[in-house]
Amino acid sequence: MNCPKCQKVLENGIFADVVYHKCKTCGGFWFDKDELREIKQNKDWFKLDSGVAGATSKTYKGELKCPRCDEKLHTIEYAQESGIRVDVCSECDGLWLDAGELKAMHEESAGWIDKLKEKAQEELIAIELFLIEAGKFSPQ
Ligand SMILES: [Zn+2]
Ligand SMILES: [Zn+2]
Repeated sequence: MNCPKCQKVLENGIFADVVYHKCKTCGGFWFDKDELREIKQNKDWFKLDSGVAGATSKTYKGELKCPRCDEKLHTIEYAQESGIRVDVCSECDGLWLDAGELKAMHEESAGWIDKLKEKAQEELIAIELFLIEAGKFSPQ
């Protein structure tokens, strides 16, 4: 398989027992269907990504083609309003990520967790206040 950007042969890597493909030249990753999901089972998944894009990645302007089926890749937003645009193959469900996108995904999901925690905290306080007012709870 060759890098959709640099056309160089992708190198194999193994992470959490999953074989993935990486381009040494531009720092991008190719994940076959479900590979990224499996890799994400390991809490250090985002450390795979050096976050540094090679020069070829930054200057690339053409259409990306799937390294497996040679079909045109479609650009989709990873999560709503995340601004992270990833390239997917509708034929094989593979996924191309530029250098830095794995790290960006991690930051995005860490942001969700913080928001959820904040929300849960607010709700706990509201419940506590309600119970105190109702005389059913006294804080320790
Ligand atoms: Zn490349
Ligand atoms: Zn494909």
